[in-house]
Amino acid sequence: MDLSYILNHLGEDRETYRGAVSPPIFQSSIFAFPSVEAFRDGFRDEFRRTTYTRGNNPTVEILRKKVAALEGAEDCLMFGSGAGAIAAGVMASVSAGDHVVCVQRPYSWTRALLRDLLSRFAVAHTFIDGTDIANFEQAVTPATKLIVLESPNSMTFEMQDLAAVAELARARGIRTLCDNSYASPLNQSPIAAGIDMVAHSATKYLNGHSDVVAGALCGSEQLMREVFRGPFMTCGAILAPHDAWLMIRGLRTLQIRMQRIAATTQLVLAFLQAHPRIEKIYYPHSETNPQFALVQEQMRGASGLLTIALRTEDVAGVERFCNALERFLMTVSWGGYESLMFPVCAVHPAGAPLKSGGALPLNLVRLSIGLEEPEVLIADLQQALAAI
Ligand SMILES: *Cc1c(COP(=O)(O)O)cnc(C)c1O
Repeated sequence: MDLSYILNHLGEDRETYRGAVSPPIFQSSIFAFPSVEAFRDGFRDEFRRTTYTRGNNPTVEILRKKVAALEGAEDCLMFGSGAGAIAAGVMASVSAGDHVVCVQRPYSWTRALLRDLLSRFAVAHTFIDGTDIANFEQAVTPATKLIVLESPNSMTFEMQDLAAVAELARARGIRTLCDNSYASPLNQSPIAAGIDMVAHSATKYLNGHSDVVAGALCGSEQLMREVFRGPFMTCGAILAPHDAWLMIRGLRTLQIRMQRIAATTQLVLAFLQAHPRIEKIYYPHSETNPQFALVQEQMRGASGLLTIALRTEDVAGVERFCNALERFLMTVSWGGYESLMFPVCAVHPAGAPLKSGGALPLNLVRLSIGLEEPEVLIADLQQALAAI
């Protein structure tokens, strides 16, 4: 199936919507049935039928089909956040007494899910450096039921060899889940590498407009039905029809946004690499990335999220840089049309030392490249670097 067909047409049953080119928003919590027999039928398969919007909704269903196709998965469930999608995938896969192996620097709330929430329900976990397959072999035990991956992660971009992890897990009957938010479905296909479940913070590139918080979980129909009967219907972290409609609209431009972002990021990267105030750059598609060979093998195009380490004596220099930037908005999240920055020092108390060992150094600033003219962003970075 070609990409533009998925983004422009798949799932959009226009004949039933009186030819509407943009699909209607089914702003209805419930769907009525003409007979008891039909009602019974609706109950029989809430995963596919439309009975109640906590289960399925026609507008959300269009999005489910598109995201599943983008990931090359049989099915997809949409959630009210990426955290909701990841939590559902994990909770559907473990019981008390089980063990989960997870990469050492996952998204903060993925870490909290395992460390703070599921540990209360007797689910054990081990965080490992996922850049070396040997660490997975060492960490799995007979109780391991799930391996949680994030490749690359969204701050320092360590990757895992997805095919190798999938093979190791399959041989031991262990399920795998990969957070693919960074790459987007356009640039990496974990399902094709043998991974069982793919999660997205659809808040980021998939929606791309900084106006919806959403999540997606993709996998085989059987697995998605299992998640549906379990945490999806039980915890109810669903995506509202209106937000699904906004996401369908956001997806129309996914391909062109990603192309533009990748091209601009290449120019920004070249500028930063040559700048004396830049100590180090974290970016998967940079030739200085120690995992560059894996990136070339496993990923297609590039994304626009990178982290720079500033050459400065103290955190005050980092703050001067960030405060001087005019076109990069200072905030959380990433993946929108607008360029953003996230200084690591903002989550530490004022006056903290630049490098305290263990945690990330405080001279790191993450940049999310948006759709602005490249020369505008480069000029802004240039004047802010001069302010250090
Ligand atoms: C933002 C993010 C999440 C969480 O998604 P929400 O939509 O904010 O709940 C998960 N994984 C990664 C890599 C993220 O960047």
